[in-house]
Amino acid sequence: MTQKEILNTTGQVFNIQKYSVHDGPGIRTVVFLKGCPLSCKWCSNPESQSFKPQLAYNAGKCLTLSKCLRCAEVCTAGSLTQGEDDKIAVNWDTCTNCMACAEACPAGALINYGDEMTVKDAIDSVEKDAMFYARSGGGLTLGGGEPFAQPKFAIALLKEAKRRYIKTAVETCAHVQTETLIEAGQYLNFVMMDIKSMNPEKHKEFCGVTNELILKNLKALRAAYPKLKIRVRTPVVPGFNDTPEDIQAVVDFIKDLDVEYELLAYHRLGTQKYTNLGREYPMGNVSLDNEVFLPLVEIAKQVPNYAS
Ligand code: SF4
Ligand code: SF4
Repeated sequence: MTQKEILNTTGQVFNIQKYSVHDGPGIRTVVFLKGCPLSCKWCSNPESQSFKPQLAYNAGKCLTLSKCLRCAEVCTAGSLTQGEDDKIAVNWDTCTNCMACAEACPAGALINYGDEMTVKDAIDSVEKDAMFYARSGGGLTLGGGEPFAQPKFAIALLKEAKRRYIKTAVETCAHVQTETLIEAGQYLNFVMMDIKSMNPEKHKEFCGVTNELILKNLKALRAAYPKLKIRVRTPVVPGFNDTPEDIQAVVDFIKDLDVEYELLAYHRLGTQKYTNLGREYPMGNVSLDNEVFLPLVEIAKQVPNYAS
């Protein structure tokens, strides 16, 4: 690809988050790419799962029909009607995600999750904070969704960031083509990769796919890049992988691969997003107690590079 072709490569992005301190070392800008091959029941970014732009509605911001009504006037599908408290209601079954209402809404109550962007526009935005990266050891993180589910765009972003001396990281579910991961490795400083469970049936039940490709990809990436900094992460989810046996199985798989390890405690921060997308939260009312989580951390510490 020529430099011009790299800069003009386009992809679907649903957010660019500045000043993040939780997505890799230092201060980072996270570019969130749309689309994911998994459908984890606890996903805290459900707006990321579809590969296409997707409408969301935050009723708390609606100005009420008696004061506004702009959205209903532009909806040719007739999907916006009067709901509770004089606010609109979305008929999710008939909505075509045309986004006319999101453009018309003056209150930000109707939101379009998904915009086509060029590599140039995305990296220009990231580069604006280069001063913070230099001071903190931060840089660009690709998140999602699954960044490598848009392989051409993701690799072009990483390559261009590298060319501009911006350090790079990725958060990946690793259920991607092995060739994509290996090609991307040459442009990456840090990889955060989930291993959610060693049990293929449970993995399929809770994430929609089995885990074989993910496990294969971790080994392939480590073999191709022995010095690359890789952090394996396991989100601990009640009823899915919250037993000592579950975590011990992951530890046994990774402990000789020279990777960092981290357990992430289940949280419910994304539940409101499901309502905003017209979906039900698949996990119901479960919670994770510290009495369950903390002993699992002790098991995880068998990995020499446990990230505490
Ligand atoms: S996205 Fe389009 S079809 Fe859906 S509610 Fe808005 S205007 Fe109507
Ligand atoms: S355009 Fe926005 S603020 Fe106005 S009625 Fe529709 S959702 Fe409410």
